[in-house]
Amino acid sequence: MKVTEHIKNAKGKSLFSFEIIPPKKGLSIQQLYDNIDPLMEFNPPFIDVTTSREEYVYIEKDGLLDRKVTRMRPGTVGICAALKYKYNVDTIPHILCGGFSKEETEYVLVDCHYLGIDNLMALRGDAMKHQRFFEPTEGGNNYAVDLVKQISDLNKGKYLHDVIEKPQKSNFCIGVAGYPEKHLEAPSLASDLKRLKEKVDAGADYVVTQMFFDNKKYFAFVKAAREMGITVPIIPGIKPIAVKKHLQILPQVFALDLPEDLINAVEQCTDVKAIREVGVAWAIQQTKELLEANVPVIHFYSMGKSDNIKSIASKFF
Ligand code: FAD
Repeated sequence: MKVTEHIKNAKGKSLFSFEIIPPKKGLSIQQLYDNIDPLMEFNPPFIDVTTSREEYVYIEKDGLLDRKVTRMRPGTVGICAALKYKYNVDTIPHILCGGFSKEETEYVLVDCHYLGIDNLMALRGDAMKHQRFFEPTEGGNNYAVDLVKQISDLNKGKYLHDVIEKPQKSNFCIGVAGYPEKHLEAPSLASDLKRLKEKVDAGADYVVTQMFFDNKKYFAFVKAAREMGITVPIIPGIKPIAVKKHLQILPQVFALDLPEDLINAVEQCTDVKAIREVGVAWAIQQTKELLEANVPVIHFYSMGKSDNIKSIASKFF
């Protein structure tokens, strides 16, 4: 079922969902199941599965370094199919512009269609590790809006190069990313919101936000988006802080601000257990306030760990 239908059927009740990352290449899917099992009692209507970009690895051969391209966490669509049929839950593969030609993307979209996957998250992806800025892949989509257009075209039965005479139409519900504190490359929040509006106008059905730690930022973002004419659901993304390094990594990678109270509380902790408790307590406060504001869904970034998400979800769902 589509995310938008789940939201409609909930009749104003906020839903619980989460995002997982595929296991590293060569590891068993069982560890994923072990992390998902404890969260299924909260009845997530859908689970997102991320896609990782390709990266370079260097293999030593005859004293020289040979550069190879690989994906360290492959299997997104396969995992979506496995989870969908194991747990009877909707699964949402993240589809990226970066690293894929439009042809390869069409191939993946057709796979998803045949597998009965109803929702896709359309994303540009980040630059590769050695790149300073994102560079589009040859023959690929440049921005998420272009990918949204490609998926929307398929929903109309328009395949690449129009080689099919009686096309089978897909009917994907399309999610896109939104940034309450603006995307790190965007010159301003207002210009980033215009880009978000372009994605919605191109066919996106809902938005999932980047993580934020101050709900005021989310509420202001939703207000600004509504004033701009973006009417689709805007699902807040929440991540509990789990290690002290998050204080540096999260602002650096996601260009977001952490509230002083949260920073102080984490800095006073003397062990990881205490930091996790602070992170969970903070996320519980955020969740409580978001639920009081009747958000459609609360989407948790699990990063492959379920115990802290379970501690939060068990209070509300
Ligand atoms: P876009 O919407 O294309 O925007 C990228 C930047 O370009 C923005 O600054 C925007 O303002 C600007 N822009 C957009 N259109 C134009 C235009 N026409 N001209 C000029 N500038 C423009 N990454 C992964 O690798 N894998 C994942 O699974 C993944 N999942 C994610 C899930 C969520 C909920 C979120 C919020 C992010 C996720 N990301 C993931 C990260 C995402 O790929 C990065 O944040 C990426 O840098 C931007 O992706 P986007 O889809 O927002 O890009």
